[in-house]
Amino acid sequence: MRIWLSRPHMGGAERSYVDAAFDSNFIAPLGPQLQEFEERFAEYLGEGVDCLGLSSGSAALHLALHMLDLSPGAKVWVSSMTFAGGCFPILYERAEPVFFDLDPGSWTLCPDLVEAELKAAAKTGDLPAAIVPTDLYGQSCHLDRLEALAAEYGVPLIVDSAESAGAEFGRGRKAGTGGTMSILSFNGNKIITTGGGGMLVSRDRHFIDRARFLSTQARDPAPHYEHSVYGFNYRMGNIPAAIGLGQLEVLDARAARRREIFATYEAALGGMPGIAFMPEPSWSKATRWLTAMQIDPAEAGVSREDIRLALLDHEIESRPLWKPMHMQPLFEGSRYVGRGFDESLFANGLCLPSSSDMTDAEQDEVISVVRAALEG
Ligand SMILES: *Cc1c(COP(=O)(O)O)cnc(C)c1O
Repeated sequence: MRIWLSRPHMGGAERSYVDAAFDSNFIAPLGPQLQEFEERFAEYLGEGVDCLGLSSGSAALHLALHMLDLSPGAKVWVSSMTFAGGCFPILYERAEPVFFDLDPGSWTLCPDLVEAELKAAAKTGDLPAAIVPTDLYGQSCHLDRLEALAAEYGVPLIVDSAESAGAEFGRGRKAGTGGTMSILSFNGNKIITTGGGGMLVSRDRHFIDRARFLSTQARDPAPHYEHSVYGFNYRMGNIPAAIGLGQLEVLDARAARRREIFATYEAALGGMPGIAFMPEPSWSKATRWLTAMQIDPAEAGVSREDIRLALLDHEIESRPLWKPMHMQPLFEGSRYVGRGFDESLFANGLCLPSSSDMTDAEQDEVISVVRAALEG
């Protein structure tokens, strides 16, 4: 590939933080850079949250679910259109996912569907053990409505904000601060990266302390190794955290640049027949981590695949939107609540190259290839 969907983009300060870690020999799972990364990230998010650095976003979601003590077969309601790492941890806990459709107005978990299902489930005593909405492609889910519903029915809300670091909900509230707990990812393709890593966020200190204990092999206080429960080796290393310190400094700049890239795509392609971009409701300020669009083949005269393959011919990476989990062979027979909006997004949706270090000339090239395909 010459032009990537989303690639790491260092800000420049990362090296000096990594050097500082080397100089003090904290080439270890724990160290001052990790502590500083957690503190600075918590400051950045605001709302009085605490942060715990972990080895991945998936590990963060696993720990969050683990701490809810789900019974085998417990139902966890989750956005169907998500990445594997936003869903597999439900299986690690022997729970059962129920997949939910998106709201066409935001492409995030539909609060109306959740509300109707909660009402019905409360009557039959079948409330879920947790609800896990996904912040899709850099856009926060509707935190106000989902938090209110979770509180009304007493169901823990774990927000998968892996794709939305730097995004905002409502008036200046940061994505990643929602629910009982939220999770973030710093994988290499996300808006900022630690070369692989994640974070658990919560306003409830108890969860952060418990997760710290569980993520470092559940060692009871004793001079020898003493264990009364089992744990995990999920802690973020000090070197990735040092990279994260540099990346956090440029997070807002990265979000601004990705929004600019989106605006350029929208201005150039938004008027073409059959093309529709992911909407941004008034309550959201998305990062546009990935520019996501829909191609209606009847109106556009070409399909999503035609455009994807035309781009591939020019060594430009693009990708269909996430395949909804209820359509995956792994989850055949599982319950799905929705109207198939996510299925249509998968059929016709495409993510365009959105790296924050993409040059204007590279983006112009992407646009002209898409245009040429559309004009057939
Ligand atoms: C990337 C991602 C994850 C998992 O994060 P990792 O750090 O890759 O484990 C979880 N959920 C969603 C929606 C993601 O995009």
